[in-house]
Amino acid sequence: MSPPNNRLDTVIRADLCVVGLGASGLSAILEARRLGLTVVGVDANVIAGGAAGANGGILRAGLSKFHHEAVSAFGREPAAALYRLSAAEIDRVAEETPEAVTRTGSLRVAADDAEWADVAAQMRSLRDDGIEAEERETTFGRGIYIPHDASVHPVARVHALARACSTEGALLFEQTPALHISGSEVHSPGGRISCGAVIVAVDGGLEQAVPALGGIVRTTRLQMLATAPATDVSIPCPVSASFGFDYFRQLPDGRVALGGGRNRSFDTEWGAPAEPSTVVQSYLDGVLRSRIRTQAPVTHRWAAQVSYTSTGLPVMREVEPRVWAIGAYCGTGNLVGSLCGRSVARLIAGTDDGLRALVDPAPRAC
Ligand SMILES: Cc1cc2nc3c(=O)[nH]c(=O)nc-3n(C[C@H](O)[C@H](O)[C@H](O)COP(=O)(O)OP(=O)(O)OC[C@H]3O[C@@H](n4cnc5c(N)ncnc54)[C@H](O)[C@@H]3O)c2cc1C
Repeated sequence: MSPPNNRLDTVIRADLCVVGLGASGLSAILEARRLGLTVVGVDANVIAGGAAGANGGILRAGLSKFHHEAVSAFGREPAAALYRLSAAEIDRVAEETPEAVTRTGSLRVAADDAEWADVAAQMRSLRDDGIEAEERETTFGRGIYIPHDASVHPVARVHALARACSTEGALLFEQTPALHISGSEVHSPGGRISCGAVIVAVDGGLEQAVPALGGIVRTTRLQMLATAPATDVSIPCPVSASFGFDYFRQLPDGRVALGGGRNRSFDTEWGAPAEPSTVVQSYLDGVLRSRIRTQAPVTHRWAAQVSYTSTGLPVMREVEPRVWAIGAYCGTGNLVGSLCGRSVARLIAGTDDGLRALVDPAPRAC
């Protein structure tokens, strides 16, 4: 990718400052530029240095809750509307960054009859809303296949977005933590952005970046591993298992990427740093050998932070005048994050596309 500007060491002026250069922040920047705003983006680390560059690469329409759960929690119309928006977002992401997206569909599989009852309820609920879902017997268990879903190369997508932002004239600064944020200024150790509005597009650590969200969002660690190219298994599309807590897919070169296990150790994962732990990684080793049944050696282990709300809905909120926060995608932010990013850029430019009323209708406690 074209190198971004290095750390900010001066004072600059822009209509909008975006804090966080993952897919959500970069989507906001791109939209804001296209709406004619001048934009500066800053990241404490590097572009794609957070969850946006370290995730399972599954583009599954809907929210973190499966569709039947979303229908009971949020109501049929809002749940169906959010499903449709995120399904359309798969198409848009595939068009925007075709080099990063593969139209694979996705599977959800059940380990036993009890889990199948839940998977079947999801299938019925999807079909009730006219969404295609096919029952499948697979080597990983009985499940449903959702043809519209897809896979993404997370880093390739984020870097493509960053290139597009630079091409559109946005200024991006890495190694530039936002230490103090208000609606008119963002301070970093070496410089300052004087601006008309701010979007904090941070998923993991959102409550640190925006202390007003303490008690509303909570950061946790998610972990993954990857193997050498595996020739003893074939996984045609991303798979979600164990009530959605585990997920795996096979990359085009045969490597298996597997994540999950947070439910094995909730207490140690809340607030934990982005480093793999023995408990969760041992669990993932077990899934790799006994459920996926590959003997390919593990070559990579990693972790990154995301944040959750208690409701399963993300945050998309003006936390103080002209400071907007987006995040807390509850572990599935690849689609909802870019939807929220673009939508909040439109709000700042003066157009309400209605997403905020669906995802963050009223303040709520964790
Ligand atoms: C292991 C794992 C697997 C996942 N799998 C999937 C999946 O398969 N499908 C899916 O949809 N979702 C998945 N997710 C969730 C998804 O990755 C995230 O929800 C999404 O990538 C969040 O992107 P973002 O741009 O909002 O935030 P981030 O990628 O977290 O980016 C935020 C950026 O903000 C920067 N930052 C933080 N604080 C500051 C500050 N004060 N000043 C400046 N910069 C700051 C960080 O350095 C970071 O680069 C997974 C997450 C993880 C960790």
